[in-house]
Amino acid sequence: MKLAIASNNAHKLAEIRAILGDRFDEICSLSDLNIHIEIEENGETFLDNALIKARTICHMSGLPALADDSGLCVNALNGAPGVRSARYAGEPCDDAANNAKLLARLHEREREHESDRSAYFVSVVALCYPDGREISARGETYGAIVDDPRGEGGFGYDPYFLSDDLHLTFAQASAQQKNAVSHRAKALHALLRQL
Ligand code: IMP
Repeated sequence: MKLAIASNNAHKLAEIRAILGDRFDEICSLSDLNIHIEIEENGETFLDNALIKARTICHMSGLPALADDSGLCVNALNGAPGVRSARYAGEPCDDAANNAKLLARLHEREREHESDRSAYFVSVVALCYPDGREISARGETYGAIVDDPRGEGGFGYDPYFLSDDLHLTFAQASAQQKNAVSHRAKALHALLRQL
C-alpha cells in the first residue's frame, strides 16, 4: 500500500520512514506527490492540527495520508510553546529564533525564582483513509531544557532538549537512539498497533 505523508520536513520524513518503512510499499512526501500547498494549522490541539493536515492530503492525493503534529511543552512556561512550537517566534518558521525566545522566556522565569527546566515533546499522528476511516495516536518523551546547544543532528528544539532516557540532547543522539525514545516514534508505534 502507498502512504502519503502530509509534510515536507526532511527530518520528520526520515523518522517516519525509519519506523513505517516495512509496513508500506511506498511512503511519499508532498513534493513526491507534486502537492504544493501550505496547510493552515489553525487547530487548538495537536490532534486538531494532525487531522486537518491528514484529511487535506488524503482528499488531494486519493491516498491514505498520515500527518504528525508535534511540539515542545515546557512546564515552567505552562506548556508553551506547545501547539505553537513551529511559529513560536513568529512567521516564517525559524528554529534559531524559536530557541532564542524559549531561552529568554525561561531566563525571565528564573528571575521570578522559577527554576524548573523540565519539558516534554508531544507528537500526535493521524492517519486518514479515502473511505473516511481515521485513526490517531499520541506519544510523549521527557527531558529538560539546557542553556547551550549540544550536538549537530536533528532539528527544531533538539540541541536544547536533554533527554531523560538518553542523557544526551536529541541533537547529540543518533537517528536510532532518537527513534528508540522519541515522542514521534512512540506515537507511530501506538498507531501501528491499531492497524
Ligand atoms: P509541526 O510541523 O506543525 O508539527 O511543528 C512542529 C514543531 O515542533 C517543529 O517545527 C519543531 O519546532 C518542534 N518539534 C517537533 N518535533 C520535534 C523534534 O523531534 N525535535 C525538535 N523539535 C521538534
